[in-house]
Amino acid sequence: MSAGSKEHKPATKLVEAGRKPEWTGRVVNPPVVRASTHLYASEAERTETLKNNHDGVFYYGRRGAQTQWALAEALTEIEPGAHGTVLYPSGVAAIAGALMAVLRPGDVLLVSDNSYEPSRLMASGLLKKWGVEHRFFDPTDLEAYHQAFCEQTRAVWLESPGSLTMEVCDVPAMARIAREKGAVSLIDNTWATPLGFPAIQHGCDISVMSLTKHVSGHSDAMMGSASAGERWYRALRRTSQQLGQVVSPDDASLMLRGLRTMHVRLEQSTKSALAIAEWLKTRPEVAHVLCPMLPGDAGHELWSRDFSGACGLFSFVLKGRDDAARARLVDNLELFGIGYSWGGFESLALPFDPAPIRSAASWPPASWDPQDKLGVRLSIGLEDPDDLIADLTQAFVKMDNA
Ligand SMILES: *Cc1c(COP(=O)(O)O)cnc(C)c1O
Repeated sequence: MSAGSKEHKPATKLVEAGRKPEWTGRVVNPPVVRASTHLYASEAERTETLKNNHDGVFYYGRRGAQTQWALAEALTEIEPGAHGTVLYPSGVAAIAGALMAVLRPGDVLLVSDNSYEPSRLMASGLLKKWGVEHRFFDPTDLEAYHQAFCEQTRAVWLESPGSLTMEVCDVPAMARIAREKGAVSLIDNTWATPLGFPAIQHGCDISVMSLTKHVSGHSDAMMGSASAGERWYRALRRTSQQLGQVVSPDDASLMLRGLRTMHVRLEQSTKSALAIAEWLKTRPEVAHVLCPMLPGDAGHELWSRDFSGACGLFSFVLKGRDDAARARLVDNLELFGIGYSWGGFESLALPFDPAPIRSAASWPPASWDPQDKLGVRLSIGLEDPDDLIADLTQAFVKMDNA
């Protein structure tokens, strides 16, 4: 449980969080404790420990040791309203673990149509096999969302903004409606992190993150988390223990290292992303810039109302052009890698085509010229934005000079 630092501002909490003296000893960071077996002082101590299944006490390696406890504790401290956090070996494992903690056969899950593809696949794959049905809803249509509920709706899965197409949902309203209907609201909060969007404070029951992205920040480790108030934290923890989910202390240590600087990295990459998004708006090659923190964006109003921060991830859509042109664009970028993931110190570019996977909200949106549909997602890293703009400029020229 978090203690003491509640009144501090987020940047201060990031520095302090999880650094309990009984875990760190006399050094700044908790040690990397590699342990399967935890040794008991006596048989009496072993039987006593067996009776309690508490956080933060030695038991056996699957329940972690100081390194993992410190990370989970730190994530709880930065998520206002959370009682605890469960760690998972990847973001996708966190999504699966959270949904499995909530859903039972016969339930219906509502899924935001802009959700990360593996979340959709979880609904249409494993959950379906288990007898859980799902319905997709248009993330920007509150009325359609309301209508999508039925007697059996047990949970809603939100993602805001959608990590490819960047629609912002009215999360506080959606969480409130879910609660009124007796459903649990879960959100993939990877984009904003609790620093930019305190999801539980905004009414969500369970806040899930891929720590692989902003918390790691260095593209060298994978992990996921789910944070919740007391009731759902207990369910998450129980399910995770039954599934045998555990993360390595080495990776937890990398995540703790990343976490300490997340605030400054997010601030810097948001600033650069905004500069690049504004510049892209002026380019004749670009039909749409999808970036909620950009004034005029479809999600800007909700973003300004609900978010206190952003990140370097946004998308744009080419004006006309074909696949070959888009490939020339990304192939000619020198400072942007082509690859999955985001939130690292290095910039990335990823072509995307959500049309075939959409079910409730068409892509491209009906109001657009149907020729404008080829998207590129940019994850802006910590390079100088002027260099990134120069790189994009030369790649745009090469795109059209085949
Ligand atoms: C990457 C990502 C995940 C999954 O995280 P992994 O750690 O790669 O499994 C979940 N949600 C979103 C929005 C993501 O971008």
